[in-house]
Amino acid sequence: MFRHNDGYPIVLTSEIATASDTFGASVVGFASAIPENYFRRRIAHMFFRVSSDREGRVKRAPYGLAKVEAALLHYGFSRSDVVIASPYKLDRVIGPRTRIVGIYTMDALGLSYGSGILYWVLKLADLPYRGLPYIARSFMEVVEHPAIKAHKDHIKVVVGGPATWQLVDTGAWQKLGVDVVYEGSFENYGPVLFERILKGEDVRGRVVNSKPPSVEEVPTIVTPSIGGIVEVTRGCGRGCAFCTPTLSGMISSFPFEGHIDKEIITNIEKGGFKSITLHSEEFFRYGAKGIDPNPDKVKELVVKAYKLIKRYGEDYRLHTDFTTAAVVVQAPELVKFVGEYMNEGGDWSFIEMGIETGSPRLLNMLMAGKAKPFTPRQYPDIVEQAVGILNDNRWVVVGTMILNLPGERDEDVAASLELLDRLRKYRILTFPLPFIPMGALRKRDFTVLDKMIEDPLRRELILKALIKSMEEAVRSVELIVGNMENIVAKLIIRRISLFAFNLVLSRYKAKLGQLGEHSAEFIRKLASAAWDISKSPVRIPIDEANQ
Ligand code: SF4
Repeated sequence: MFRHNDGYPIVLTSEIATASDTFGASVVGFASAIPENYFRRRIAHMFFRVSSDREGRVKRAPYGLAKVEAALLHYGFSRSDVVIASPYKLDRVIGPRTRIVGIYTMDALGLSYGSGILYWVLKLADLPYRGLPYIARSFMEVVEHPAIKAHKDHIKVVVGGPATWQLVDTGAWQKLGVDVVYEGSFENYGPVLFERILKGEDVRGRVVNSKPPSVEEVPTIVTPSIGGIVEVTRGCGRGCAFCTPTLSGMISSFPFEGHIDKEIITNIEKGGFKSITLHSEEFFRYGAKGIDPNPDKVKELVVKAYKLIKRYGEDYRLHTDFTTAAVVVQAPELVKFVGEYMNEGGDWSFIEMGIETGSPRLLNMLMAGKAKPFTPRQYPDIVEQAVGILNDNRWVVVGTMILNLPGERDEDVAASLELLDRLRKYRILTFPLPFIPMGALRKRDFTVLDKMIEDPLRRELILKALIKSMEEAVRSVELIVGNMENIVAKLIIRRISLFAFNLVLSRYKAKLGQLGEHSAEFIRKLASAAWDISKSPVRIPIDEANQ
């Protein structure tokens, strides 16, 4: 008879920071980008806890990994073939029967935007930065786990998830003993690949790239997802040059009955969540066929989901996570309608919105779809209006602005500075994100980040964006720790967060004062060239621009 200490044939896991639901408040997970000189291993393990049963099966999993498990079960594997395991308990699930260890990664080498911004946050506050971001360290802990090493002669290590590009572009995967890198959606080809591995086929040394599946091919999760996440759309269709094919491809929406409702129920009944996040790259376009929103479909979804969660109690809440500026300005009445359900009773919540640039020229070159149906020249106005509409409906906006995009010139940075200035009066956290070119990636060369903060114009943008973010973070601290389930941890994290936000904020203000700012007149004159989109008539494919 099968004993579990013989191991499961397929063990799924992820880096520790990604496997943890950080006490129920996934928004606190940004701490995973903090470098290891602030996170000793023991402290990190206390912070990044992972709930699991004695055997090692997790109670909640990262959404992407829960989807991998769902696809395998749907294909015909059973729960005794597949386990999503805590990275702390791999020794309990890996054994002589194990053939595949699948590792899901969000930031394997610490090269994500999140790790880049933390680098700036610390450097600009004159705080030391040593070693790897914790998330990357915790990937190493898993990929080099003694249980994997002990059984390596009969195990294939397969790595998937949003950060696989880091392993491929740097070539690090082979050195780390990874047999297969799986890029793209799992549903289409993943189960077939796993079956071939189980049959003994030699698949080592492959980078697999799979196309997005159709909506009908995506099964529902069985293990609850961290953050109470339920995916309602996939793709957005705006086609930004730096986005992944999975997301930039055409938008498709999952049906409520038999799909979204099932995942909500799983998260509430098995996962114990009181807050459900309807995940989408662009929530207000749920049910849309083209670029225009379909308000009836969005309203129907929200009303049905709201009624479902309220069956469990008045204190159950509904949220969403992403939008674009354009759709908010296109459908302000819809935003108001949804806000009445999601931010009921005067509550506020966060919503992410990729601003990326204030430069019509750069927008036209790399992400013209972001402004549609408006024009690139209207985009800065659209962003300001959208933030205002979202604030009016009690959403605090988390707005990202990317620096160092291919083809970026000083006038583009000046245009972003102008937009940032216009956003000062709103409730928004403006996060400056570094675009790291391929060459730098290969060497894990963060000097590119140093160069950006040495340049007076870019440093001014980064400092001003961080000052605005930290001011809003102080104001929004209750929202940041809001979902934390453990009261003691909540109090401690709240305190530490406030201390850290205020500390870096005062240092940024002092630094901006010492270094001085460019005059408004200088910025205005410089930015004027960014409005001439005839200077950038050609769209640059990002791969060419990187060379
Ligand atoms: S709007 Fe966002 S999700 Fe859509 S293509 Fe652009 S970056 Fe990707």
